[in-house]
Amino acid sequence: MSGNASPPRPAAADLRADCSQCFALCCAAPAFAKSADFAINKPAGQPCPNLKDDFRCGIHDRLRESGFPGCVVFDCSGAGQKVAQVTFGGRDWRSHPETAREMFEVFSVMRQLHELTAYLLECLDLNPNDGETSAALDAIVAVTYGKPAEVLTADVAKYRQRVNELTTRASKKVRRGGGVDMRGKDLMGASLKGADLRGASLRGAYLIGADLRNADLRLADVIGADFRNANLRGANLTTSIFLTQQQLDAASGDGRTKIPERLHLPPHWNVGGGG
Ligand code: SF4
Repeated sequence: MSGNASPPRPAAADLRADCSQCFALCCAAPAFAKSADFAINKPAGQPCPNLKDDFRCGIHDRLRESGFPGCVVFDCSGAGQKVAQVTFGGRDWRSHPETAREMFEVFSVMRQLHELTAYLLECLDLNPNDGETSAALDAIVAVTYGKPAEVLTADVAKYRQRVNELTTRASKKVRRGGGVDMRGKDLMGASLKGADLRGASLRGAYLIGADLRNADLRLADVIGADFRNANLRGANLTTSIFLTQQQLDAASGDGRTKIPERLHLPPHWNVGGGG
């Protein structure tokens, strides 16, 4: 890490994509496999053919109908603008092609570090005086301000393990041991309409296509749960723990779905519609 001063902890806005400050890293760095989410195969490190020279998407206003719903729900957790403006100081990969490969690799690591940062910030919200969480958070934030080589050599697996320990501890404390334990369960397509899931552990559960209409998920731990195409119409997630915007974006819901204040109802939800 360069310099001695501790870098600032990010605000919530710093952990959300700001495409205006990025060089479309998510449209160039990762590989896509042709699927329900992407209409084409795209190798890693190669710009999407829909990407324009000004780093804007040529089909931005018709992504879903063009077969790219995966782009609609993708959020880099603010890694894009961090890499573009901080790590690489505003030098873009088109004007400086010699930086492209390293920039794309840094983006992949940065995204993981930002995700871990968001979880630790929520841990501190849940348990403000936890010194171990503060130390882990500051260590990860420091790496995100490092030079490219420092980011690339970060031991992400070690950080992930530590974050797992700290989020598990915070979760147990907040849930007070209550709720059903459905960690990692295969609940794909499950009928959970109106279910009382208060305080449940749904860590890493597969809820793809599950019917969660009017379910009560307050204080449920949903870290890493897969909500793709889950039906959250009328569900209560106001105090769900470790819920991310990306999880909401991947699900369906409506104006009756209750979510934490820090998140927003996805634009593609039928807000105001019935369930
Ligand atoms: S379709 Fe648009 S948003 Fe998706 S990767 Fe291509 S340029 Fe980016």
